[in-house]
Amino acid sequence: MSGAERAGGHAGASSLDPDDWDGLRADAHRMLDDIIDYIADVRERPVWQPIPPEVRARFGETLPRGETPLGEVYQEFSNSIAPYATGNVHPGFMGWVHGGGTAVGMLAEMLAAGLNANCGGRDHIGIEVERQIVRWVRELFGFPQTASGVFVTGSSMANLMALLVARTAALGPQVREGGLSGAPLTAYASAAAHGCVIQAADLAGLGRGALRRIPFDAAHRIDIAALRARIAQDRAAGFAPFLVTGSAGTVDVGAIDDLAALAALCREEKLWFHVDGAYGSLGMLSPQIAPMLAGLSEADSVALDFHKWGQVNYDAGFLIVRDGDQHRATFAAPAAYLRRETRGLAGGSPWPCDYGPDLSRGFRALKTWFTLKTYGADRLGDMIANTCAVARHLEARVLGESKLDMLAPVALNIVCFRYRAPSGDADALNAEIVADLHESGIAAPSSTMIDGALAIRAAIVNHRTRFEDVDRMVDAVLRFGAARVEHFID
Ligand SMILES: *Cc1c(COP(=O)(O)O)cnc(C)c1O
Repeated sequence: MSGAERAGGHAGASSLDPDDWDGLRADAHRMLDDIIDYIADVRERPVWQPIPPEVRARFGETLPRGETPLGEVYQEFSNSIAPYATGNVHPGFMGWVHGGGTAVGMLAEMLAAGLNANCGGRDHIGIEVERQIVRWVRELFGFPQTASGVFVTGSSMANLMALLVARTAALGPQVREGGLSGAPLTAYASAAAHGCVIQAADLAGLGRGALRRIPFDAAHRIDIAALRARIAQDRAAGFAPFLVTGSAGTVDVGAIDDLAALAALCREEKLWFHVDGAYGSLGMLSPQIAPMLAGLSEADSVALDFHKWGQVNYDAGFLIVRDGDQHRATFAAPAAYLRRETRGLAGGSPWPCDYGPDLSRGFRALKTWFTLKTYGADRLGDMIANTCAVARHLEARVLGESKLDMLAPVALNIVCFRYRAPSGDADALNAEIVADLHESGIAAPSSTMIDGALAIRAAIVNHRTRFEDVDRMVDAVLRFGAARVEHFID
């Protein structure tokens, strides 16, 4: 069978464009209307629902060899995909740290897909839009003009890249050729730091043990005296401390380390000061929260996620580095096929691929640019402050209920509490209550361990979450808790 025969109705034409653009347009308008309804009517649906086995089984089909009309594929999306998404568009979603996204960001993502820009490099407008975001982040964080920035998947990647920049700064660019060669590097972060901070040490070849986990205080902020002592102890033992990572919003409870004190300590000890600002650093948009982040502007690098508090649709992680030269010295790699020119499409050096391990990359900057321009920094800051107000309302509700206990102070927008077990295993009871909440479709908090106790953890990150949504969750916790306690006694 010849290629032309295999192509069937499209003999002689290998393009994947439709024969009938009007048909595609009709399908497209229907999809757009439906997905706008999906977002607009999100409150009428459950936060999350389990995937029925027959729906899950549908995704076991073998590689489709033939064509399927777009309308049919879309029907399958409507029936089998859309109803079973994570749920973080919904105001009742309070698990982990998930942004809610916006319709504006969705439209921008669609436009970006239309341009199909490869933002690894070259001289085109996608690169310029990304540079504008770099300038805006510099301005927001009080970083100098020499600071560089780059979009990445998320803060897991940004924290790893920051560690690599700090490593290159400590050992010199020859580390890229010769490797660590046994250099006894040690890095430091609070024991409350996100797991990806520890993983970064592993991925970079330092080993997890090279990341010293420093105790935190009652407010879940890194113990500065303990950090100082550990650095001295390591130096005396022949190690080479090179990096301190502060947390701007810990994942468990939303605590912000004393960033100004960390900045001073790093200056004194000549260490790289990185901040994992995955979700908390965009608190700089709010005049109420910015003072809590004092010291952020002194960091050598900051990892952040526009897809969390910034509500940009997934994914939109970002790394900013104070010294752009160090950043480039870590990742830029000459290659004949990536030759730079002074004119034409191969101009405009440096390129984003000089600032990270990715070469081909999508146009994450566009949805971020649309979000920042459409809403403006002030409205986004107010929205962020409001999530904290919702968290304080939830805290007050929990404190007012005799059957509930608060497990950690509320620093920002994360509330950790649990149902009091009259007897028996309180951890198991609260884990069941969390699963009950998920399956009820009312709310989706997650859980975490606070001082050895399992907590129901509600992170108010979604801009849609209101007082009534957290009230509904508390009512459901009380209902499910009472039902389970009764069941235990039976
Ligand atoms: C979410 C988060 C991360 C990881 O970021 P991803 O975007 O999920 O890769 C790291 N640190 C903190 C504090 C976070 O909240």
